[in-house]
Amino acid sequence: MNSSYTLTDTHTHIYYNIGTNTLEDQINRCLDQNIKRLFLPNVDSESVSAVLSTSKSYPEICFPMLGLHPCSVKENYLEELALIEKAIHAHKIYAIGEIGLDLYWDKSTLAIQQDAFRTQIKWAKALGLPIDIHCREAFDETFEILEELHDDKLYGIFHCFTGNLEQAKRAINLGFKLGIGGVVTFKKAGLDTVVKELDLKDIVLETDAPYLAPSPFRGKENESSYLHYIAEKVADLHEISIEKLAAITTENSRVVFGI
Ligand SMILES: [Zn+2]
Repeated sequence: MNSSYTLTDTHTHIYYNIGTNTLEDQINRCLDQNIKRLFLPNVDSESVSAVLSTSKSYPEICFPMLGLHPCSVKENYLEELALIEKAIHAHKIYAIGEIGLDLYWDKSTLAIQQDAFRTQIKWAKALGLPIDIHCREAFDETFEILEELHDDKLYGIFHCFTGNLEQAKRAINLGFKLGIGGVVTFKKAGLDTVVKELDLKDIVLETDAPYLAPSPFRGKENESSYLHYIAEKVADLHEISIEKLAAITTENSRVVFGI
């Protein structure tokens, strides 16, 4: 093990702890790969406790974010928001997330997704926290809200960014870093050519485990220790060492999360 560098997984649901992997085994596999910092988003009021307890068990490694995921915005979303808001004020967290808009799974909830997104952006600004954005098939709608609420208090990460170069620049200009995950390792996805064009100061790395496993595990269950495949791919694209890439992207994550 080469422990001379630190990689940061800025978005992982490691607390789902599915399959036969215990949480401790997963953390140990991360440490073996120099992945020493993990940021954990919940998705709804039910997943708040798992995020908080995992972060409490590994206080130097796991850091909590809280928010209401757009796919969890249903008829009862105001109650869900109230529960999450309560948790946000009761615990130290590092971002509001994951929040945003998802028109892939359900277009019928767009209006309430927009309402929940705006509400949570206002929380983040009031608390001086970044936001962690989930945006799927909803770039225009997401940018509309970000542009409407844009000021120097609004910043964060576009999680699992898979857009084109123009969308990348638009997000960066609004004060966001791009969360680059397993899709960058997929052949024909085209994200590699976008990432090659980006300034490394604008990106952070993530797995979104247990989803979106990078190549060579595409289609299988993902885990945070696979972050190094993503890091190696991005380092190759920019023709720099993994140590250098780790230093830059971890520093970027510190700028966003303040830790
Ligand atoms: Zn996620």
